[in-house]
Amino acid sequence: MNSEKLYSQLELSDARLREEKESKSEIICAFHEAVIVFKPNLTPQIINAQAKLMFAKYLDTQQHIQNVPLYKNKKATVRFDLHLWLSKLLAIPTDGSDTNTPTEVSVWLKDRETLKTTPLLLSAKPLLTPERNLKNLLLVVYDRTIHAQSDEQKRLMEAAFNSYHGQFITNEKGYITHPNDSFCTLTGLDAETLKSMTLTGWLDQQVSLKITTNEVLTTLLSTRFWSGEVELHPLPNVTYYAVLSISLLADEQFNIEHYVVNIQNITEIHEAQMAIEQMAYYDDLTGLANRRLAFEHLDLALKHHKRHGTFAALFFINLDRFKSINDAFGRKTGDALLKQVAKILKDSLREEDTIARVGGDEFLVLTQDKAFSKTQATQNAYHLAKKIAKHLNKNYHINETTLNSTTCIGITVFPFQEGDTAEDLMLYADLAMSAAKKRTNQKIYFYESSLSEIVIERRSLEHALTIADLDEQFELHYQAQIGPNGQLHGAESLIRWNHPELGTIPPNKFIPIAEEGRQILRLGDWILAKAFQQSKEWCQKQPDFNLSINISPIQFHEADFVQQTIKILNECGANPKNITLELTEGVLISDTQSALKKIEDLTKLGFNISIDDFGTGYSSLSYLQKLPIHELKIDKSFIFRVPESQDDIAIVESIISLARNKNLLIVAEGVETEQQADFLRQQPDDIIMQGYLFSEPCSKTEFEKFFSSAE
Ligand code: C2E
Ligand code: CA
Ligand code: CA
Repeated sequence: MNSEKLYSQLELSDARLREEKESKSEIICAFHEAVIVFKPNLTPQIINAQAKLMFAKYLDTQQHIQNVPLYKNKKATVRFDLHLWLSKLLAIPTDGSDTNTPTEVSVWLKDRETLKTTPLLLSAKPLLTPERNLKNLLLVVYDRTIHAQSDEQKRLMEAAFNSYHGQFITNEKGYITHPNDSFCTLTGLDAETLKSMTLTGWLDQQVSLKITTNEVLTTLLSTRFWSGEVELHPLPNVTYYAVLSISLLADEQFNIEHYVVNIQNITEIHEAQMAIEQMAYYDDLTGLANRRLAFEHLDLALKHHKRHGTFAALFFINLDRFKSINDAFGRKTGDALLKQVAKILKDSLREEDTIARVGGDEFLVLTQDKAFSKTQATQNAYHLAKKIAKHLNKNYHINETTLNSTTCIGITVFPFQEGDTAEDLMLYADLAMSAAKKRTNQKIYFYESSLSEIVIERRSLEHALTIADLDEQFELHYQAQIGPNGQLHGAESLIRWNHPELGTIPPNKFIPIAEEGRQILRLGDWILAKAFQQSKEWCQKQPDFNLSINISPIQFHEADFVQQTIKILNECGANPKNITLELTEGVLISDTQSALKKIEDLTKLGFNISIDDFGTGYSSLSYLQKLPIHELKIDKSFIFRVPESQDDIAIVESIISLARNKNLLIVAEGVETEQQADFLRQQPDDIIMQGYLFSEPCSKTEFEKFFSSAE
């Protein structure tokens, strides 16, 4: 009951009181609210049942109200003086002004036993005689507990609703009713404008969905919730990226009551994602797609054309003589040329075509062309290639320089053959490009199977390597190493592959394939085991016999290479002092820290470390200083031309003096003639020699003749 009504009822009852004095307290007692009627001296005249329930324990025998524990605040630390407050109301304004409106105050009642506080609203009003004399003072006390709770809930709701996300509710007709501040900010529209709009009206005006508004509504009707990424356009040239979520509230009969809409601005996240994507999928220099993205597009295109029985073409474009341009005019000019080429490609192709830079001066083009036959696709591709070549083969003006640049284009029409992967297609186009390069006139070449023979061979070798029974098909051969006095110093082990159908395959052919396909790991372990066993056996014949073993960089770079070597060594029981591990310079250049650690560990175990093919790799010798190595192997390419070539003599002599400084053993490989051997013997240092002059690599049994001849 509101207070106006209550007071008029009270006044009514007051009139009746005059007539029925005895029943007045009954009437007062009938009210739901706590009511106290005070005499002008502020002693209670009537206290109704509700008021008694509320205050009884605090009233004394005269029922004075002074002791009622009322407070101004919830925590009950500031006392409220009820007596004082009431006494102020006793003064009747003489100017005849309004005494009808009750005076109100919110206070807290503290229960002395439970210490709980209850929020109360005190509403008091003097009751006057018709002559405006004070007759009584009426106090009505409302329990505000329920109100206070709902107030709190309202504040909470407001706080939650006024979150960082834009939110609004609609009424059952779809009109926006409660846009929060964030939503107004995000849309650039004020609450008034928004309230004149419907949800769909707003969607149509500002939101680009990835599906139609109708599809959103259909989902909402079936699942009552829809969420998705959208673009928000508060202004024609402003785009925010956002996650929009819409919930539909309906009653049991599915009458729509509200839509609750939440929009989260993810523009920053989106931009960060775009930046990451840009880095991962695009070429920094030209802004074109990079190899990875080109590969993904090609993969999709291949699947698409396979499914639909259509054909397309992949173009591999390479600039002629780019390396020389780079060398002659500098990298900046080279980069500028690449940028111009990228721009010409972009300008001459359609926006939806994929243009990528996949290597220094290598570009890939994948068009959206869909031809219904291979012939058709080939014709289309040929025309396009001619167009590209026409645009690219020209004079380029870069700063003050004018450069003529031409291109060669390799093309593969695909799908080409069953089982091809995107990787194969790239390789085909690349092979076709190499073939185009060899032409003199029009440097456009279509891939054909014959170009792939190399690929096919590689693939069959890789397969053969994977399934080979190592003990059956592989064998270690040994090539003698001869000391300065002609004595047998040791041997280098060299792997041989005798394939039952493919015949003998030289290591230079299969080792790179095994490295690429990582079969070298299995093979490398097998080689170590075989060589360790052999070393152990031969050291019984000649205790200082040294066996050199070639270690593939791939194997060496394995994190557990050292542990794996120890394991194999323990199984075979060789002495590492009699073993030299041959590493190439490349191994030491990349990943120097961990390479150094591995070499140190191996050295501690007693192994000797040799740098194989020395002189062919990186000219920087500084790393040598840091490494605990034992031996340098002068590459056979230098030995070939001594003593004829003065240059090679100089190289060999400088390697020898370097090794001398570091106290390293020197091995010269590829010694084929007496002249070469003499030249090496004349050096001031002891040089170990290896080459056809002394022995070709041979089988174990054959090699053992060296021991018997020495015996
Ligand atoms: P490499 O380590 O430089 O081995 C020396 C190569 O020179 C051997 O070729 C050997 O037969 C050849 N050679 C020896 N003396 C002469 C000579 O007087 N004149 C000429 N022209 N050549 C000579 P091979 O056995 O064909 O091995 C080729 C390469 O394959 C090796 O070069 C090595 O890089 C790799 N390789 C061979 N066996 C293994 C192995 O067990 N493991 C690993 N990872 N690689 C191996
Ligand atoms: Ca070697
Ligand atoms: Ca070598």
